[in-house]
Amino acid sequence: MKSPKPTFSPTSITATTNAVSTLLSDYIAQSEANAKAVLQQEEPKIIAEKLALKKLIESGFSSQENIVDFVATYLTHTNHLKNPRYMGHQVAVPQELSGIPDFIHGTINNPGSLYEMGPAPATLEGFMINWMLAKVGWLEDDKLYDFEFTPHRANGVLTHGGSIANLTALTAARAAIAPEAWTEGNPDDLVVLGPANTHYSIGRALSLMGLGKNAFIPVAVDAHEVMDVASLAAVYQQVKSKGKRVMAVVANACATSTGLFDPIEAIADFCQQQQLWFHVDGAHGAVVLMSDKQRFKMKGVEKADSLIWDAHKMMRVPSLCTAVLFKNGAHLLQNFQQKGSYVFHDSKVIGMDTMPYTIECTKSALGTKLFWALALEGENKLTHYVETRFEQALYFYEMLSATDDFHCLYRPQTNILCFQYRPDQLNDAQQLELRYALVNHGAFYLTSCEIDGKRYLRVVVMNPHTQASDFVTLIAVIREKAQDLFDL
Ligand SMILES: *Cc1c(COP(=O)(O)O)cnc(C)c1O
Repeated sequence: MKSPKPTFSPTSITATTNAVSTLLSDYIAQSEANAKAVLQQEEPKIIAEKLALKKLIESGFSSQENIVDFVATYLTHTNHLKNPRYMGHQVAVPQELSGIPDFIHGTINNPGSLYEMGPAPATLEGFMINWMLAKVGWLEDDKLYDFEFTPHRANGVLTHGGSIANLTALTAARAAIAPEAWTEGNPDDLVVLGPANTHYSIGRALSLMGLGKNAFIPVAVDAHEVMDVASLAAVYQQVKSKGKRVMAVVANACATSTGLFDPIEAIADFCQQQQLWFHVDGAHGAVVLMSDKQRFKMKGVEKADSLIWDAHKMMRVPSLCTAVLFKNGAHLLQNFQQKGSYVFHDSKVIGMDTMPYTIECTKSALGTKLFWALALEGENKLTHYVETRFEQALYFYEMLSATDDFHCLYRPQTNILCFQYRPDQLNDAQQLELRYALVNHGAFYLTSCEIDGKRYLRVVVMNPHTQASDFVTLIAVIREKAQDLFDL
């Protein structure tokens, strides 16, 4: 029998990672200098062919050079988040060394949800949960090393993303009002109230939970899509008179589209009066809790029952890392009521396992990534980063407001700003066309959204290298493209 051709066996991580590191640092330098288009898209078939995916699966990498070539080609087909003209999605622009925890995890693979599978990763998750709880005001600052998983204190877990975190919070709300649902299925009288622009993961969670999307009852919003508290009271009376029970009230902190905050304190007070579960979706905006200047925007959050907070948005953490936090730790412990005997504690067990309290079973070392983003610069610098992005969005708003061809609907409360170009002349489809002209040209990367049924261009100022001059250029490029496209 013919023996198979010996393949390259990558045994030394040092040489290969050094070579890859060199590519990555060149990549960062080029992105930051805007030396390449923010995004240059090709069809997937072309990328697959350039990367020789089929061949590599069959025969494997043939040499270190082959790996380096592959990575170089891979990097040319990416969205350059570190380019100052990336102003797109709410996805973190990582620090230079942000990738190291993923590298360590990828090398040692210690999933964090069973303590004995990774004592250090599990400790860092517990520590970061405590740090976040302290920011909310749910844990004393001197308890950061208290890793008790007991019902007597606030608690939480890290998840792979805000969507799973929202689902976790809503199942906990259901366990509180209808504990029998876990084994018997849903009662048919549960509803959830919130503004219509609640993130779509809330509606999905309700469908996944078998409550159906229609269990979500929208509360009226103002012209900026911010929840109206008077309407909350009215909707609550309506659903109650129909014999429904409110499983949770959900608020945006902030809304994904506009970056505006619902009035958290007023909603919290209403929920306390009526004894309703209050869930705050702080995926993007909970980061204001780090800032003495900004935290007033979430005043009253400490009265909520649950909160989610995406670290992979404003905290420079590479995707994904989200916290779902509960004021009353019992709600976390009672959430998923099935027992796997292999994970449950007896007195001989060291440390804490989060696995019984999460939707996910195996998880990445999420706490390590979050810790790292803070430790790389220190908390004060990261807070300053957040505050400065908010200031830049405000600055851009003021620039646009001083023109007579751009229109902003509202003053931004975060780093998210929506605007239109010549709304008197250009319709919704043309606003969108403008976006594609910019994105496909590679000059800028921005997004778009609908507010109150109207199409807007949307920037999310994420990049610490974005400067005033980039905003000036953005305005000029939009005007130029609009001239080309629409002959204004
Ligand atoms: C981004 C976002 C989510 C979803 O979070 P993922 O981490 O992308 O799953 C949920 N709610 C709000 C308000 C968001 O902005």
